[in-house]
Amino acid sequence: MKHFGHKCEACDLSYEERYGPIGADLIHVHHVMPLSQIGERYQADPIRDLVPLCANCHHVAHRRNPPYTVAELRTALAEQADGVPA
Ligand SMILES: [Zn+2]
Ligand SMILES: [Zn+2]
Repeated sequence: MKHFGHKCEACDLSYEERYGPIGADLIHVHHVMPLSQIGERYQADPIRDLVPLCANCHHVAHRRNPPYTVAELRTALAEQADGVPA
């Protein structure tokens, strides 16, 4: 996970910034492409297929199948922040 750092791609949460040392290096790794859909010849592309998400965003993403995308999560968060009714 060195490529990403440890910040949520959807809400920019850093556990280390929020919790200090006990949160260091903590992040969920979300597979954009569900593992069940990855064929045998599929070449994993960590930059494209894995995104770091905090537990909250990861939880919300998986409310739907297929999961909400990072872009959808970001849009939802931005709309909430703007006070737009859901
Ligand atoms: Zn998040
Ligand atoms: Zn996931």
